[in-house]
Amino acid sequence: MGGLFQAVALAELGLDVTVWERSAGRPDDRGAGIVLQPSVAWFLSMFCGVDPDRISVPVTHRQFFGRDGRSHHTLMGQRMISWGAIYASLRDRLDPARYHDGHQVTALAPRPDGVDVQVGDAVRPVDLAIIADGSASRHRRLVAPGGAPHYAGYVAYRGVIDEAELPEELSEVFRDRFSFYDGDRTQFLCYFIPGDFGTTTPGKRRMNWVWYVRADGADLDRITTDRDGTAHGLSLPPGLIAPQVHTELLDRAGALLPDLLRELVEHTREPFAQAILDGRVSRMRSGRTLLTGDAAFVVRPHTAASAEKAAADAITLFTALQQVPSLDGALRAWEKDRLAEGTALYRHGIGLGHRLGLGGSEPARAAAAGS
Ligand SMILES: Cc1cc2nc3c(=O)[nH]c(=O)nc-3n(C[C@H](O)[C@H](O)[C@H](O)COP(=O)(O)OP(=O)(O)OC[C@H]3O[C@@H](n4cnc5c(N)ncnc54)[C@H](O)[C@@H]3O)c2cc1C
Repeated sequence: MGGLFQAVALAELGLDVTVWERSAGRPDDRGAGIVLQPSVAWFLSMFCGVDPDRISVPVTHRQFFGRDGRSHHTLMGQRMISWGAIYASLRDRLDPARYHDGHQVTALAPRPDGVDVQVGDAVRPVDLAIIADGSASRHRRLVAPGGAPHYAGYVAYRGVIDEAELPEELSEVFRDRFSFYDGDRTQFLCYFIPGDFGTTTPGKRRMNWVWYVRADGADLDRITTDRDGTAHGLSLPPGLIAPQVHTELLDRAGALLPDLLRELVEHTREPFAQAILDGRVSRMRSGRTLLTGDAAFVVRPHTAASAEKAAADAITLFTALQQVPSLDGALRAWEKDRLAEGTALYRHGIGLGHRLGLGGSEPARAAAAGS
């Protein structure tokens, strides 16, 4: 998504943009939820011609559960979107001729006035290379050696349930609400998101939940090793959870969560998981090579700001290229701005994790295993 934000914004400036994406085909819309923040909403509306309100679900209140299941709520309007809805808007906006999926970038070699990008056996000279290869970035080290993220000591279990599969009385409890349960060194939250690629029709939406649970290194390895014994490192995709890990998840939900939230976990066919990482870099630019999105800063999901940060990386570069006369001057101005915001979000996320009792970083466990 970080690469697509950049590509769409730079194409708006009239630049000749090419995206090389390692994976082939359009990814499934797994429907995972994202809180719609201002830069993403602005980007969708200004650069993609999409009304963000049409592909997001409103909440009117925040709802806080106690262990006994009782809740109180407070007025707070927000909108919830899905990864798939943002992705589809970006892909639909980008000229398909500019997007090369199934193409892995294997090397980047800087030149004084640009970069040689190696894609398979071909070398493509470009004026500016933007590395957007995510938290497990292979190419980050060209700009920021030592910037690999570290495991923060806990995982997010996640689940998505079709609205039609939820009992009406359960749906009713969560409708229009962003719901939270803060337990002892754990947090659960849930909200409705659009269905397939942005559908917001009632009955076709999805319930999205996230449950933060502490897990030491051995637990993480167990959770992210799938039903066939394949180790996935720092995340477990939907549909692959090992039966024993699934049983433990259900048992744990029974022991730790208020009943209504436990029921959500029980209604989830394919729970998945991701390790929570902390990653910061001290540089986002080296000559004509930039880092963007999770390849630069990996911030904790409590900030609800990963997609927002990636969109803001692109909007800020768009603005700098428009306003600053020289390319190198624009890149310098961009880096200064993005380092400041990335660092602030990184610290804010760690602070929120501590406040929830979820803990700090384990620098010894570098995120080298892939995401
Ligand atoms: C399927 C999916 C679901 C997500 N769901 C959520 C969510 O629910 N909530 C949330 O806050 N965030 C979610 N995220 C993360 C969020 O999208 C990111 O934090 C944000 O968009 C910035 O990530 P990114 O684009 O920098 O990195 P990523 O999303 O990790 O993308 C990196 C991309 O680079 C490609 N790549 C890697 N190496 C190479 C290479 N050598 N050559 C070419 N291509 C390469 C990868 O295939 C991938 O497409 C999700 C990401 C994905 C991929």
